[in-house]
Amino acid sequence: MKITGIELRLVDLPLVTPFQTSFGVELSRHALLVRAATDDAEGWGECVAIDDPVYSSEYAGGAIDVLKRFLIPAVLAPGRVTAAGVAPLVDKFKGHRMAKAALETAVLDAELRIAGLPLSGYLGGVRPAVPVGVSVGITDTIEKLLDNVQGYLDEGYGRIKLKIQPGWDLEPTRAVREHFGDDLMLQVDANTAYGPADLPHLVKLDPFDLLLIEQPFDEEDLRTHTRLREMSTTPVCLDESILSARSTVDALAIGACDIVNIKPGRVGGFLEARRIHDVCVAHGVPVWCGGMLETGLGRAANLALAALPGFTLPGDISSSARYFDRDLTEPFVAEGGMMAVPTGPGIGIDPDPQALSELTTWSEWVTA
Ligand SMILES: [Mg+2]
Repeated sequence: MKITGIELRLVDLPLVTPFQTSFGVELSRHALLVRAATDDAEGWGECVAIDDPVYSSEYAGGAIDVLKRFLIPAVLAPGRVTAAGVAPLVDKFKGHRMAKAALETAVLDAELRIAGLPLSGYLGGVRPAVPVGVSVGITDTIEKLLDNVQGYLDEGYGRIKLKIQPGWDLEPTRAVREHFGDDLMLQVDANTAYGPADLPHLVKLDPFDLLLIEQPFDEEDLRTHTRLREMSTTPVCLDESILSARSTVDALAIGACDIVNIKPGRVGGFLEARRIHDVCVAHGVPVWCGGMLETGLGRAANLALAALPGFTLPGDISSSARYFDRDLTEPFVAEGGMMAVPTGPGIGIDPDPQALSELTTWSEWVTA
């Protein structure tokens, strides 16, 4: 496939409500989009890096720089490229998996649109719809949290994930469990906010019968996750620590987790995400698809991945309206805790030209 040019585009989608995690508050989603143009089709990728390097070392401004100066020139240089050929071409540049993922996804989307093949079918998806849950940010009061959770349950979500941090963990979790009962599928996500000294404290989450606790410790600290598994009955899930199929094998080998959260952006793209899925299936480890407040373009692609057979837990893939007044695409809607997997070629959805143009704050073409 010959790529005639690649466009980088920043869009600004104000969030319906601020989203607070242990690493900060997001008021607006400034998404970096990558568009790969060919003579026959164009493909879209969304970079999940946020404004500041506080979820991981990557941030949107850094992703733009590395894409423009290194990754895009390397992919355009051979004249022709396939999606499977992107990772080898950019492998010599260390890290920057979120930027690499967006570029690979744009190329893959264009390739599949030309072939007339949906992303889900290409990856090995087996489900027409997938179970989805919602990630609930930290609030000022327990009452506000209970209100928010009630609202999501009213919208039909079957699984609730609470963001936690030191000082906002046992009480909100207890309140939600007691208020909504034992049948609620409930899990918590700490985004690396705890340290080894917090092990005895985190064991106190056990009575709440959580589906899992996600990434309580530093991304490089697999050993403390292993210790928590030994001390606690709550299943331990890794998110930030899982960067590749290789790091997944290592984490499983030392018993650092029971469950894996796969985010294609964090691991360098959908092809590596599928390898991680395959590693986990081979080890009998359940996986689920995480989210990074993606626009409809990123969410469509995540739905395709979540249709693979090993994704047995609900993903963080919520309705457009849960995030934005106005999405870049036709809104996605969860019904009965399920969301349909797009069936069109590639990621199966196109941006609305008017929304795209009105929400864009910057764009630049890069050509060979
Ligand atoms: Mg997480």
